Amino acid sequence: MTKRCSKCSKPAVTYIRYNGTHLCNEHFINYVTRRVKKEVRQQGKTPAHAKIGVAVSGGKDSLVTLHLLKEMFSKRPDVEIIALTIDEGIQGYRDKSIPVVKKNCELLNVDLHIVSFKETFGATMDEVVIKKPSQIGACSYCGVFRRFCLNTLAKSLHIDKLATGHNLDDISQSILMNFVNADMEKLARLGPHKKIQPGLIPRMMPLRMIPEKENTLYAIVKGIEFHDAECPYAVEALRGTFKDILYTLEDQNPGTRHSIIKSYDSMKELLLGLYPPTRLNACQSCGEPTSHTFCKACMLKSSIE
Ligand code: SF4
Repeated sequence: MTKRCSKCSKPAVTYIRYNGTHLCNEHFINYVTRRVKKEVRQQGKTPAHAKIGVAVSGGKDSLVTLHLLKEMFSKRPDVEIIALTIDEGIQGYRDKSIPVVKKNCELLNVDLHIVSFKETFGATMDEVVIKKPSQIGACSYCGVFRRFCLNTLAKSLHIDKLATGHNLDDISQSILMNFVNADMEKLARLGPHKKIQPGLIPRMMPLRMIPEKENTLYAIVKGIEFHDAECPYAVEALRGTFKDILYTLEDQNPGTRHSIIKSYDSMKELLLGLYPPTRLNACQSCGEPTSHTFCKACMLKSSIE
């Protein structure tokens, strides 16, 4: 029998287990939008004439973030939404997702800025994989290089806040992983960031309380075209284990992921008291903020030269 929306009598498109409601298309969209708006407000006031950059890869999460922020700020003509894309240079993967990003930006009338690893570090990710020492994984290079590119590009565009597409699953996994590894310092530094560190663009995570499955459904219901493929270098051994653990917990006890984030939020100030942000210097090679003499991106760059 077709289930009906708990708010109206239309056919339901989903059942939200953690709060026991069936929702139709319209009420599901309202439900996601309302929680994203609340989360954005909680992550800090958006000042007048703000520029918000959205890191867009072409996947569902980053594109849902872009669409939602564009819609949210449609009545604030003083707030500019800009898309930032990093082209890592991964054949058969990133070259397929960038056209999807361009299509979405044209549709939304959003300016898109693309920066590549090749122009920044002199090598594509495909070349890094060949040149890198075997003991360091591809994702270690890619993550550090991407953060560098995003921060420098955001600064050059005078962006006030940088939004990423991290969802409820990503964040609850990171919290759990850092607990299990007893890495309290890293735990204290997880975004979103309220304190502004000189030289670092603060991050916001609008989808922080939205489960990955709801993001996918939102993209489908709204007809958002996204690139659905896995990076050929993805090695998710450890994160995959935590993902499985969280699925099992969520299945047995719906709402577990939300509870993990709520518990984390209630102890974040204590963690920041124990591990206050470290004083940052300018990297002696590129000038980017670092707690060492040279930043991680410059150190990794020199290892492939
Ligand atoms: Fe980069 Fe690793 Fe993500 Fe691929 S899976 S895009 S190499 S961080």
